[in-house]
Amino acid sequence: MNIVILLGAPGSGKGTVAGKLAAGDKNLVHVSSGDLLRGAVAKGTPAGVEAKGFMEAGRLVPDALIARMIKDVVAETTGDVTMLLDGFPRNLAQAKILEEMGAPVKSSVVIDVPDEIIQDRIAGRRTCPQCKAGYHVKNLPPKVEGVCDRCGAALVVRKDDNPETVKDRLAVYHRETEPLIAFYREKGMLKTVDGTTGVDNVAADFARVM
Ligand code: AMP
Repeated sequence: MNIVILLGAPGSGKGTVAGKLAAGDKNLVHVSSGDLLRGAVAKGTPAGVEAKGFMEAGRLVPDALIARMIKDVVAETTGDVTMLLDGFPRNLAQAKILEEMGAPVKSSVVIDVPDEIIQDRIAGRRTCPQCKAGYHVKNLPPKVEGVCDRCGAALVVRKDDNPETVKDRLAVYHRETEPLIAFYREKGMLKTVDGTTGVDNVAADFARVM
């Protein structure tokens, strides 16, 4: 097993690209920290109860809480697979936790999208609460409005996708997560793709550099 870390602002397309690549290649596994947390919140586990307020406020949940979940998934994932790790690490402390775990990180790929585009991307985002597929009302619409192509569930707007919370999440990204770009660049592990060229092109570029 080895790990490719996805970096990029909320709405930059990390989940969409990782989901698309993993759907077409059985050796790729998409692990989303946000999906793990939303799953825990939905189930009402102790971790979910603790995480809920942070997530609704657009803040990061405590490092130890998400690190425990990631540690479990890393330990469970074996064999000849590449894990596309989407949403973790989210700050330098988490990057160091991942190193201390001895996780086999191969590279880190930034999906680069300017802030001006992010607001519109998130405003149009629709999510499948069941299979986690992501859509956009204009850029990536489902075949039938409001219905997931993959599993038929009714699509929802994520609670933290409202414009106020998005502003906070973008500020958190710039302050906490962006320093990881320099962190992985200094290790010679950083790759960058232009996230504005359309889902198919971004996914192809990502697969080429990862
Ligand atoms: P995402 O689906 O990646 O946009 O994550 C949604 C929310 O989950 C974030 O705004 C955070 O509140 C929380 N979250 C996800 N990943 C992490 C992480 N690695 N560290 C802390 N909080 C996280």
